[in-house]
Amino acid sequence: MKGQCLCGAIEINAPSTDHIALCHCSMCRRWGGGPMHAVHCEGDVSFSGASPSRYPSSDWAERGFCGQCGTHLFYYLIPADQYILSAGLFSEQSFTVDQEIFVDEKPEYYPFTSDSVKMTGAEVFAQYSQ
Ligand SMILES: [Zn+2]
Ligand SMILES: [Zn+2]
Repeated sequence: MKGQCLCGAIEINAPSTDHIALCHCSMCRRWGGGPMHAVHCEGDVSFSGASPSRYPSSDWAERGFCGQCGTHLFYYLIPADQYILSAGLFSEQSFTVDQEIFVDEKPEYYPFTSDSVKMTGAEVFAQYSQ
């Protein structure tokens, strides 16, 4: 599937999927103003046009954005070499939320949107450290 940032300087090419996860962690919400609608792509993700700007948000991850328009593009997990893309980039694609993570950090002021699998931050770290 193909996506692009708001100004069109960066195009994203990623394997198609219709599943997304919502991340309610405080960092995603600070970064994007709300929960990240995250597309976990299996396989290669490529960018064309301008190069994404990268912000090292932790020792193990970077957050990417367009340096011209500021559109949030991805969360990049360094040890796994995996791009987790923002669902909003892909206007042609429809998605189903099948997981919500860091539910223990979700504030009260917006509701859960799905009856999907829900995991706390501790449960996420336990799963991915195995
Ligand atoms: Zn842009
Ligand atoms: Zn998050």
